[in-house]
Amino acid sequence: MGSLQPENFSPLDANLFSEESHAIIDFIADYYHDIEQYPVRSQVEPGYLSKRLPDSPPIFSEPIATILEDIKKDIIPGLTHWQSPNFYAYFQANASTAGFLGEMLCSGFNVVGFNWIASPAATELESIVMDWMAKMMKLPASFHFSGGQGGGGVLHGSTCEAVVCTLVAARDRALRRLGHDGITRLVVYTSDQTHFTVKKASKIIGIPTSNFRELPTSWPLDYALTADTVRTAMEADMAQGLVPLYLCATVGTTAVGAVDPLFELGQLAAEYGVWFHIDSAYAGSSAICPEFRHYLDGVELADSISMNPHKWLLTNMDCCCLWIKNPSLLVDSLSTNPEILRNEASDANVVVDYKDWQIALSRRFRAIKLWLVIRRYGVANLMEHIRSDVALAKHFEGLVTMDERFEVVVRRKFSLVCFGLKPKFEACDRTSELNRQLLEAINTSGRAFMTHAVVNGDFVIRFAIGTTLTEKRHVDQTWKLIQSKATDILNT
Ligand SMILES: *Cc1c(COP(=O)(O)O)cnc(C)c1O
Repeated sequence: MGSLQPENFSPLDANLFSEESHAIIDFIADYYHDIEQYPVRSQVEPGYLSKRLPDSPPIFSEPIATILEDIKKDIIPGLTHWQSPNFYAYFQANASTAGFLGEMLCSGFNVVGFNWIASPAATELESIVMDWMAKMMKLPASFHFSGGQGGGGVLHGSTCEAVVCTLVAARDRALRRLGHDGITRLVVYTSDQTHFTVKKASKIIGIPTSNFRELPTSWPLDYALTADTVRTAMEADMAQGLVPLYLCATVGTTAVGAVDPLFELGQLAAEYGVWFHIDSAYAGSSAICPEFRHYLDGVELADSISMNPHKWLLTNMDCCCLWIKNPSLLVDSLSTNPEILRNEASDANVVVDYKDWQIALSRRFRAIKLWLVIRRYGVANLMEHIRSDVALAKHFEGLVTMDERFEVVVRRKFSLVCFGLKPKFEACDRTSELNRQLLEAINTSGRAFMTHAVVNGDFVIRFAIGTTLTEKRHVDQTWKLIQSKATDILNT
């Protein structure tokens, strides 16, 4: 091992690969052993790293051991520890051994399955695993390849990409009717809870910003978007000569975990001929448990649905499932057939060429990762993983309700609890400020990390359970931390 001289440079030597990857695996295992020692949210100041690293690259090879030392010394302090059991921020990106091993196989083979012939197994495994996942979530047969109705699924890197692709398909279908200039008339409908990724995607595909609707939701209705609200907005737009294009519903919104009524919205979308997409990035995973599946009732009316196993299904980053009822619309918009990629199977139209279902040409072999997770754990353990997270969230919710200084602000459905200090402990207009101070005090302690949302104009703290290592004792300790910081703040 050690330095590699240009004359014996062999960057994919199998023996050295084995030796060095073992060193990295041991390093990562140590990281997990020690993970609770680190402050959860990184404590570094902006620009910290350029003060520590040389400003030009090395000319000669450096040994792995030296590089790992620097990672320990310079990189780890700048990490926010997403896999820490005391990470309750955003939505998790939960990791697992199977997810990690699957990721290793993905980069180990490093094949680029843009079309079938470029690696038949990559394409075929992806189609099979997308059907498996669809069956786990009890999606209707219209989304399965094996359903025989033309539907199917694809793995993307992110929801943003999935939304861009479905929007492009919807846009092009509409423009075939309206003509190219019609783009200025197309309108996208979301709620004020919808993830900002949909706004970004609309911008990317050329929807005028003034044609992007963020319709209001309210506390009494658990922040769900009602069909009446959408209908009123669509009618008003049509009266102006605009054309409703796309409606995005969410199952498990990022701020508060709200669920939109899919059945009513789906019927409305059908009535107005708009594309109906369901974003279930976080909460879609819970549909593998029968007791949570009802949140997806009405999915049969959707044109497409996306879900991120990299959030809550033990699949390391990145992995976003997108199912679509009529993938030929995606292919119409995204296919390219350059001579250099021509081959018999594609010409005969008997295979899926996933390059036509996504933005990029090149693509990772993500399917092997999701397949490994599902096989290694089995559906039973994955269900248990969801259930135990929800049980912990319920436990935390119970702790919050028992302390009369606090309240749970939004009815909890999954593993996200939105809570805060009650207004009555201070003049109402100061409650937001107190909760902001409380959150900052918790996060700067380094002992837990949470993020916030603004709900009904109020600042609330989000407590999201989902990190693989979180146990009841972590939740209990964190609650004690929250209580003591609250006592400090209320006493000053
Ligand atoms: C996290 C999240 C997204 C964004 O997902 P990416 O895969 O990072 O693009 C979209 N929608 C919801 C509801 C989310 O929670």
